[in-house]
Amino acid sequence: MGIVVENVTRQFGSFLAVDNVSLEIPTGSLVALLGPSGSGKSTLLRMIAGLEVPNSGHIWLIGEDATYKSVQERQIGFVFQHYALFKHLTVRQNIAFPLEIRKFAKNRIKPRVEELLDLVRLQGFGDRYPSQLSGGQRQRVALARALAVQPRILLLDEPFGALDAKVRKELRASLRKLHEDVHVTTVLVTHDQEEAMEVADQIVVMNQGRVEQVGTSAEIYDQPATPFVMSFIGPVN
Ligand code: ADP
Ligand code: MG
Repeated sequence: MGIVVENVTRQFGSFLAVDNVSLEIPTGSLVALLGPSGSGKSTLLRMIAGLEVPNSGHIWLIGEDATYKSVQERQIGFVFQHYALFKHLTVRQNIAFPLEIRKFAKNRIKPRVEELLDLVRLQGFGDRYPSQLSGGQRQRVALARALAVQPRILLLDEPFGALDAKVRKELRASLRKLHEDVHVTTVLVTHDQEEAMEVADQIVVMNQGRVEQVGTSAEIYDQPATPFVMSFIGPVN
């Protein structure tokens, strides 16, 4: 398994943000955590990332208990909605940054950056600054940067949330394509049912800190397991 979440609970005061969640995310799959605002998606993702510690339960990454490991030890790539690029650095320099801080050899960094520009279809944009890119292109740079060090796990928290509908649609297709190319175990947090259905192999529907259902988009659509799933998913319109 890529990721195993085992009876994980996270409280803020007496409020249960994540309530005894268990999940298995197969290695190489793309899973969406789908649910309304406040359902605990980001808190769960942050615990997988190591940015937040569970009050109880365990998180296993690639067969190892990572519950108390640091963010760095987990070898994870992140993209958040407002995970800004460095404005004073070019696209190439932004993508190279995580490689430089990990002291990769210069002669390895150059070809790796070009490979990543190819991967996110931004050949020809390497010398631009973030301000000279569209919102969608910036998020593709953020994806390339997150993948630079070949993380074992990629975590995306509403990465396309701030963009308009047309760009989001394009980015979904890029994400799907990217995932077919690199096959890194990916967790995508979204409140957008269409996004989850279009992109993910498996969908985890969350509500009030709990998992309501896990299944493919067809399973969740055709056989909603709970009244909540039925009302939340509904027909795509
Ligand atoms: P989602 O990502 O699904 O919108 P979150 O995981 O961000 O949900 O939040 C779940 C609930 O936990 C929300 O009610 C939120 O207000 C609360 N919460 C999240 N982080 C904190 C925190 N650091 N302190 C207090 N409450 C928090
Ligand atoms: Mg959130």
